[in-house]
Amino acid sequence: MPRLFDPHIHMYSRTTNDYEAMSKAGIEVIVQPSFWLGSPRRFVGTFEDYWENMISFEPERAKEFGIEHYSCISVNPKEAAERPLALDAVEAMVKNGYLERDGVVAVGEIGYDQINDLEEEIFIKQMDIASERHMLMTIHLPHKNKLKGIQNTERIMNDNLDSNKIKYDSKKMLIDHNVEETIGKTLEMGMWAGLSVYPVTKLSPDRAIKILNKYGTEHVMIHSAADWGRSDPLSVPIVAQEMKKSGGFSENEIEKVTFSNAVEFFRQSPKFTWRP
Ligand SMILES: [Zn+2]
Repeated sequence: MPRLFDPHIHMYSRTTNDYEAMSKAGIEVIVQPSFWLGSPRRFVGTFEDYWENMISFEPERAKEFGIEHYSCISVNPKEAAERPLALDAVEAMVKNGYLERDGVVAVGEIGYDQINDLEEEIFIKQMDIASERHMLMTIHLPHKNKLKGIQNTERIMNDNLDSNKIKYDSKKMLIDHNVEETIGKTLEMGMWAGLSVYPVTKLSPDRAIKILNKYGTEHVMIHSAADWGRSDPLSVPIVAQEMKKSGGFSENEIEKVTFSNAVEFFRQSPKFTWRP
């Protein structure tokens, strides 16, 4: 069995039974990006209490099951178009030092949801905040119109290359929720690519394996993106098993996408102190 790391899972919405199952399946490390609460927030304080929960409570809950927990802090894409709330929340995130806290390994998830200018304003603002601090970023591709999501991200990268604006380091960027149409572009831009394996609406293990067959295992990582929806916190071990059954991958290739690529990406952060 390869070693297992889930680099995108929303434990805030999961039960202790999930932790138990993940631990039994051999998951050793997880990263929890910031997202929404299932219903829209109305107050900056609600963002702050949520970030505090991820930074101080969730690592303790994980530790009871021998799982190491890290977090990514942000104003998530789904709530980025709210004004003035999203701007005020970003300001509080910076001013109150959440990005400097223990275990915060990236700014994320950030990006587009409906794809509009208000979301883009918050996206770029948070990309700048990450770059100024040499932090990693986890970037969310929208559930609809993913191709436009990645094209817009490329445009932002290019705009900043041609100007005197802050330069973004593609090696420090992980693009999550890739599919067949986006992964080529993600890898071509020199970024890391996440594949969300989800029982409904996202990738099945079979689709993920087809993508890995075509694009290889370099810079690609599998995650569950488990959240409030019908999702599976055991997606990473399931894909490992399915890859093995398919017969098309070496042990080393399987472990790359279920563990070592994620370790390599996150250890670029000095706060990712866990070592295999
Ligand atoms: Zn997510």
